[in-house]
Amino acid sequence: MADDTHPEWRPETRAIRAGRRFNEDSLAPVLWPSTTYANRSVDEQFALATSAHPGRFYSRNGSPSVLELEDAVATLEGAEAALAFGSGMGAIASVVLTFCSTGDHLVAQASTFSVTNQLFTMLCPRLGIDVTFVDATDADAVRAAVRPGKTQLVFVESPANPGLDVVDLEAIGAITGPFTVCDSTFAPPPVQQTLSFGIDLVMHAVTKGLAGHNDAMAGVIAGERDLVEAVWGHHLIHGAVCSPFDAWNALRGIRTLHARIRQQSETALALATFLETHAAVARVSYPGLDSHPQRDVAKRQMTNGGTVLTFELAGGLDAGRAFVEGVELAQVAPSLGGPETLVVHPPTMTAATLRPDERAAMGIGEGMIRVSVGLEHADDVVADFRQSLDRLAP
Ligand SMILES: *Cc1c(COP(=O)(O)O)cnc(C)c1O
Repeated sequence: MADDTHPEWRPETRAIRAGRRFNEDSLAPVLWPSTTYANRSVDEQFALATSAHPGRFYSRNGSPSVLELEDAVATLEGAEAALAFGSGMGAIASVVLTFCSTGDHLVAQASTFSVTNQLFTMLCPRLGIDVTFVDATDADAVRAAVRPGKTQLVFVESPANPGLDVVDLEAIGAITGPFTVCDSTFAPPPVQQTLSFGIDLVMHAVTKGLAGHNDAMAGVIAGERDLVEAVWGHHLIHGAVCSPFDAWNALRGIRTLHARIRQQSETALALATFLETHAAVARVSYPGLDSHPQRDVAKRQMTNGGTVLTFELAGGLDAGRAFVEGVELAQVAPSLGGPETLVVHPPTMTAATLRPDERAAMGIGEGMIRVSVGLEHADDVVADFRQSLDRLAP
């Protein structure tokens, strides 16, 4: 880890100073768009061509701007190494294709991000990779699904998108045999230190809260150097590399990560608490509420409930449509983790191509609203939700 931060510094401080390997005297990171770098000698050329993850060779192998993002993520996750990708899905696909071959077995959480679920239901079967889906909130069920010698990967997501299921990471991390991977997009480092629970690889859609400004598309994994370098070797072939510009934007976003996440989580708790009192709302899912089914686990492994919540409207599909049309401050848009409060009604957006029974099996109700809480004043956010809810037929 190329890191000029002190190990005793707090994470907030490390986020300001991590990822400066190529900075020299400039405080702002330098953007390195070059795809290729001139070698000064045959010896140097040989060293770069045969080393894992060089910074200045050819940008599919690594580039200064991307390495600085990776350094920052490794620092924040307390990892030996990190590897960035062109998107969160690029990261997940590369991890699965690195560790699983035809005839292998993979255990996956049933309630994951919908495109991750498609990778397991559509791509894996075509490649002869056998997938067992489990309710990962039941760690015993995950353990029981592991086939010794056959299972290469256990893949969980916590909190899960969009239902906010929380998985006991210590119990999953204790599983021996397969590598364990957790998509922690909904709980970036100030909220959850995923690797500290024994999970082998933490993964993030950097696109969301880590970058945090809706202007960078990237994914990242972090963990022990051997594992990360194994994936690096495959990602060279898969080609889902992170662009320097997106890495540079993401690193700028990381500088304010702790302040943003703290503020957004505080507003999320205020909004969740308000929603629980409104008659039009049947149920609120937020790991920071005592009503959350895995509240005890969330308290153990998260410092707060995070920046995303979902709620179910009593009025079902019609109420879902009316609610998202009624908000004035919040905007209806996919993605999450940015400065603007965003709402999604999954049955008419991200899960629109699924049948209602398929949605139900994934825990997506017809009146479900997912909220990514932004940086606006909490009172304005709550007032906006109140006026839209008040307009729904009782
Ligand atoms: C968005 C998201 C992804 C995919 O990230 P992309 O950058 O859009 O490819 C994966 N997991 C979760 C939990 C997400 O929210």
